[in-house]
Formats: sequence, structure tokens, C-alpha cells
Amino acid sequence: MNCIFCKIIAGEIPANLLLNTEDVVAFPDLNPQAPTHILIVPKIHVENAAELAEMQPNALAELFKAAKKLAIELNLPGYRTVFNTGEAAGQSVFHAHLHLLGGRALGWPPG
Ligand code: 5GP
Ligand code: ZN
Repeated sequence: MNCIFCKIIAGEIPANLLLNTEDVVAFPDLNPQAPTHILIVPKIHVENAAELAEMQPNALAELFKAAKKLAIELNLPGYRTVFNTGEAAGQSVFHAHLHLLGGRALGWPPG
């Protein structure tokens, strides 16, 4: 399967792993949109968050627990977690991943 995140999880493509648990990895986004921009990724290959909820709901919870842990470690006063689902919403990698964004004021509504 030609999935870039599966290759990172398998160690075939290098990434700075900030977290590596039984179900989840986290690494900095290649093209950061904020001073802190981390991708938190389930090890199971599923296309999006809804599919993860169906296939492995505990891993979905693990993603949010990882976000909290990283935000505490990085002293973020607040942070945003985002799943893009579908090309129209900006999804470009079709292996589910939670964006963790912080380190600057984040506007609302998002773009
Ligand atoms: P999406 O657009 O699917 O919500 O998010 C995919 C994210 O993956 C993008 O923010 C993009 O910058 C990031 N990305 C794509 N390829 C790589 C890669 O090889 N390494 C890392 N660290 N991030 C990547
Ligand atoms: Zn994958």
C-alpha cells in the first residue's frame, strides 16, 4: 500500500517521533501551520476519523489523550485538534490523523 503514514509508522520514511505507543504515533507536520503543529496518527490504516471510530474506537480516544499529553509537555495554554475529512475539507493524506495546533492565537471561524 502506498501510504506515507504507514511508511512512517513502519520506519521506512524518517520522522521525529514525539510519541510511539501501542496504538498511536505522533510527529511534527512537514508543513507547519502554527509554531506547534503535530500529527497524531493511529497505527491502524483507516481512511478517516469516522472509520477509526468504527474500527478501533479506543485508538480514537488515544489520539485525544496523546494531544493532551503533548500540550502539557509543550506548555500550550490552549490548542486546537482537527480532523480533515475528504478532499473538500483539505484532507490530503487518507490515513486518519489528528492535527494538534498551538503556540499562537488561533482565529475562529477557521479558514
Ligand atoms: P491533511 O491535509 O490530510 O489533513 O493533513 C496531511 C498533513 O500531512 C499535511 O499537513 C502535510 O503537511 C503533512 N505531511 C504530508 N506528508 C508528510 C510527511 O512525509 N511527513 C510529515 N511529517 N508530514 C507530512
Ligand atoms: Zn496508512
